[in-house]
Order: sequence, then structure tokens, then C-alpha cells
Amino acid sequence: MQEQNEEHPALLTDAHGRTVRYLRISVTDRCNLCCRYCRDDSVPFIPHENILRFEEIERVIAIATELGVHKLRFTGGEPFARKGFLDFLVKIHRRYPDTALKLTSNGTLLGPALETLKELGVSVNLSLDSLDREKYAAITGKDELPTVLDNMRRMLELGIPLKINAVAMRGVNDVELPALASMAMDWPIDVRFIEFMPMGDSTIWSNNLFWPAADILETARKHWRLEPVVLRRKDGTESDDHAAEERGPAKLWKLRAPNGRLSKGSFGLITSVTQSFCQSCNRLRLTAEGNIRTCLFDDREYPIRDALREKGPEEVRRIMLDAVSRKPVGAELLASRHGPVAHKRMSAIGG
Ligand code: SAM
Repeated sequence: MQEQNEEHPALLTDAHGRTVRYLRISVTDRCNLCCRYCRDDSVPFIPHENILRFEEIERVIAIATELGVHKLRFTGGEPFARKGFLDFLVKIHRRYPDTALKLTSNGTLLGPALETLKELGVSVNLSLDSLDREKYAAITGKDELPTVLDNMRRMLELGIPLKINAVAMRGVNDVELPALASMAMDWPIDVRFIEFMPMGDSTIWSNNLFWPAADILETARKHWRLEPVVLRRKDGTESDDHAAEERGPAKLWKLRAPNGRLSKGSFGLITSVTQSFCQSCNRLRLTAEGNIRTCLFDDREYPIRDALREKGPEEVRRIMLDAVSRKPVGAELLASRHGPVAHKRMSAIGG
């Protein structure tokens, strides 16, 4: 259903009637970790001159907000691996105080930025696939778990809105479901398991590692009673359809322990592969090298870097509108795939 919003007219509406309100910006493809499900360190990083400059990203944001975008997520690579990222974030907040600013991070480098993130009201999705130090190092290539947990504790103390994302991998972190989900028992955070997506040519993705949401749910039910999180729409009616509420694509449950205790946070599943949420997708992505990407599962990208550098905002706007008009239903691409659904690695797209 097409949204109406007087402040932000619905200009980025696609051929399926979906309106883009949410831009995910990869500020760099560089990362200090090398998660084996995400990238392969033999693949070189994009040369600096091909990465959008911050002032170019700012110009894209100006155009996107004029077209009705009111939520921005900064991702990467690792956003804090790029010098000057925090100053850039402060600038964006000053210029767009009413735009929701969000961050996806591995949590290793954001320690010095935490107070500022709190002041700016930025919420953080933290990627954390294991609480076992050795396993964490094996997945990410670095022994950084203590740093991440310390930064997580500080975020909770500061009251920064926090979600945990764990890529669900059978035989890798499935045994850790109780430990990971228990974090939602004790703290007001959503712990979400993301189905492992077949992205990129050289990651460890395989059918054997794929752990479908239905099985994850069954495992969780062995430990807790799961009570669906019911959200209230603006008109007061109830809904457990989180995508429709713009809470993102996660399905969420409160956990009820055998002793009757209810979790402070929620347990969530992001069923990108087995149960798509394409019909309510309101996202557009800007890759680190300045391409508009309309769907994770579609490798067609629409370059705007040259238009930004050599032409003007009108041309960028034209390319964005054209890209949105071609936004596919990703689930259809997924259903017709043989091998990886998209060849570009996640670290270059931003997730
Ligand atoms: N470096 C940041 C981080 O670690 O969160 C941001 C970039 S990372 C590419 C963004 C998200 O994509 C992370 O939550 C990561 O777990 C997720 N991701 C990467 N590859 C994935 C895959 N094949 N399937 C599902 N999620 C994936």
C-alpha cells in the first residue's frame, strides 16, 4: 500500500507500489574484521578515489531526503574504519535533525564515539555472532570479543538503543543460541538471528551451514516460551507485522523462562531467505563506490558517482528515480537462483 506523508511526499514509489523511505549508506568497503560469511581478504579493497567522499554522500542525502527518505543507516565495511566518520555523522545530524540516524557496526572501534552517539540519538545494530572468544576469532579473523562486549556494556549503560545481529550458521553458532538469546533476557535489547544469505562468490556460504528460521525457532522453543511482540499502530490497533510498522523486517518474541520470568528485550528472526519481506521493502542502498542498489539480491546497480562529480543534482535525482522504478521483488530472484543469488560481497554493499 502506498504511504502518504505530507512532510515527505511519496516520490520514490516503485512499480510494485512500494515507497522508499529508508536509505542504507555504505561509507566504506574496508573493515578491520574479515567475517568469513561476509568477505574474503584476498579480494582487494576499492581504491580510495573510487569511494564517495563525505561531501558527495551528503549531496546524495540531500537529494534522498527531498525525495521522501526519512531514515538513514550508515554501514560498511566498518563505518568507524573510515577516518572522519564521526564528524560526518555529527554534521548530518545537525543538518537533518528530524531524520532517524542508525548505525550497523561490528562494535570494535566505536568506543571513543559512544558519548557522541548518545548525544546524537543514534541507534546501533551490533554484529555479534558468537560469545565464545575462540569461535569469535575464528569467524571474524580477530580476537576482539572482549572489546565488543565492553563497548556493548557501555552502550547499555549510556542507554543507546541497541540490537544484536547474529548470522545464523548451522554447525557454527547454533549451539550458542541459548547464550546469545539470553542477552535479551537480562538486557533491553533485541537479539536477532539473520538467515545466512547466499551473497558473494567467495564466502563460506553452503547449504550445510544454512540454518533456516523455522529450525532456529524450534530450538528457541526448547528453552523458553515465546510470546509474540505485539505492536500498536498509530491508530491504536494492534499488529505483529513488524515490517509494516517500519520496525525493520525482524519477527520478534518476548522470552518467558521456565520460572515465569519475562525477558527485558526480545528474540528476533530475520527470515531473508525462507520468508521474504519484499512486499513491504522500503529500502534503497548506496554502495561505497557510489552505486544505487535497489535490492540485496539484485546485482544491477545504478552508478551516480560520475553524475555527482561531473553533472548536477538533477541527473542524480533522475538516476535514483529510474533505479527505484526498476526495484525488483528480491524473493523472485532468490527463488530462481542457481548458486549465490548475488555476486557482490556484502562488505561492499553494506548488508
Ligand atoms: N561492519 C559492520 C558490521 O559488522 O555490522 C557493517 C557491515 S556488515 C556487511 C552488515 C551486516 O551484514 C552485519 O550484521 C553482517 O552480519 C551481515 N551479513 C554479512 N554477510 C551476510 C550474509 N551472507 N548473510 C546474512 N547477513 C550477512
